[in-house]
Amino acid sequence: MMKLKKLVRNLVQIPSMRKICSLAAGEGVQKEKTDCVVIGAGVVGIAVARELSLNHGRNVLVIESASTFGTGSSSRNSEVIHGGIYYPPNSLKARFCVRGRRLLYEYCKEHGIPHKQIGKLIVACGHEEVPKLNYLLNRGIENGVEGLKMMEGSEAMSMEPELQCVRALWSPTSGIIDSHSLMLSLMGEAETHGTTFSYNSTVTGAHLEENQINLHISDTKSVKNFDFSSQGYPDITLLPKLVVNAAGLTSTALARRFNGINLGVIPPSYYARGCYFSLSNITVSPFKHLIYPIPEDGGLGVHVTLDLDGNVKFGPDVEWLNDIDDVSTLQNKFDYTVCADRAKKFYPAIRRYYPSLKDASLQPGYAGIRPKLSGPRDGFYDFLIQGEEFHGIPRLVNLFGIESPGLTSSMAIAEYVATKFS
Ligand SMILES: Cc1cc2nc3c(=O)[nH]c(=O)nc-3n(C[C@H](O)[C@H](O)[C@H](O)COP(=O)(O)OP(=O)(O)OC[C@H]3O[C@@H](n4cnc5c(N)ncnc54)[C@H](O)[C@@H]3O)c2cc1C
Repeated sequence: MMKLKKLVRNLVQIPSMRKICSLAAGEGVQKEKTDCVVIGAGVVGIAVARELSLNHGRNVLVIESASTFGTGSSSRNSEVIHGGIYYPPNSLKARFCVRGRRLLYEYCKEHGIPHKQIGKLIVACGHEEVPKLNYLLNRGIENGVEGLKMMEGSEAMSMEPELQCVRALWSPTSGIIDSHSLMLSLMGEAETHGTTFSYNSTVTGAHLEENQINLHISDTKSVKNFDFSSQGYPDITLLPKLVVNAAGLTSTALARRFNGINLGVIPPSYYARGCYFSLSNITVSPFKHLIYPIPEDGGLGVHVTLDLDGNVKFGPDVEWLNDIDDVSTLQNKFDYTVCADRAKKFYPAIRRYYPSLKDASLQPGYAGIRPKLSGPRDGFYDFLIQGEEFHGIPRLVNLFGIESPGLTSSMAIAEYVATKFS
């Protein structure tokens, strides 16, 4: 482990390593054998690293392009622990969400991670929406979600006096979590059991040599000037026994740079930004539970989320982004600006279920971007986990489209990946 740590320190701190790399391709670039490499220190990558090291005895190196963990979608979400209602039965999203939720609650209790099982109301604001609520109830039951109950509007409104709805579906297993504390705790366990985290290090591609994956790593600073039109010269090449690509928004673009991969099985990438607005000038939260409208195309609808301090936020909406290409993705050039103008659309959407929302009470909050595998109006697309049998590269696992409910599912995804591929 020490050797590996030293190697990583070299990679990050000694720019002169690049001189070595200016030799002919394949010559001079330092190569190092490793056991497992996880690409990306988001909640999923961290959970996978912990599972591999803690429960499978593997040595893991997590390569993260940012200067710390969890700066991608893992810190730009609603921090909701989902029940598992929305997804088609037997889909990975349904299975991992239900299993992941159970694992997550157990883990939070055992490790003192701040969380609250506050429950959620999915509301029908007009009679025309009631069949959709019935559909969600049946789907949730099929998915094994516990305790679901259909309520008359009056019952829901007695639970939440500010709410207006004609019917509601009560999901008592939904809750909220401090995702930063979760990641810190998972990382601590991973590090204790043989995982090393290397920040400011970017995976820029890979190639195969005699069936061995050669993973190209560069100092993140140099990636700004990296020539993505070719394989370029990495600062270092790792020769891992297992690679898990958990690069979130970048995972598809990165997989397309793995020389020798079957490009035909890599799905197209779409990106949908979701903005949040917070409720200003309130002393007491108007809601005690999560309130969700009927889901919309591409997202779950502008909902009410509470954080563990009782702050209220609304979001995320869905804004399809059309100007993101593979290079800007690999350089992590994502625009997370929340345009204040978007509030115009939030007011009417929120007032459908919260009519007393005051004018000028919404303040721009933050934004996240969903790594989607289907475009506008394309319908449902599942998480996609591809091993060698799909793409042809031995001991490479690609995790694609890990959007919501990825936080809830993280421990179940980790369990699945480590069991199937370790
Ligand atoms: C708006 C929004 C709301 C959401 N709400 C919820 C919710 O309430 N509940 C829920 O369960 N889920 C929710 N999700 C989904 C959840 O946040 C994600 O599924 C989860 O965080 C994905 O984690 P990840 O580790 O796969 O990706 P990320 O957190 O994005 O981590 C990927 C990491 O890989 C790194 N990386 C990228 N490229 C490279 C490279 N080439 N080399 C090295 N490192 C690289 C990135 O810097 C990043 O740190 C939401 C998502 C969004 C966008």
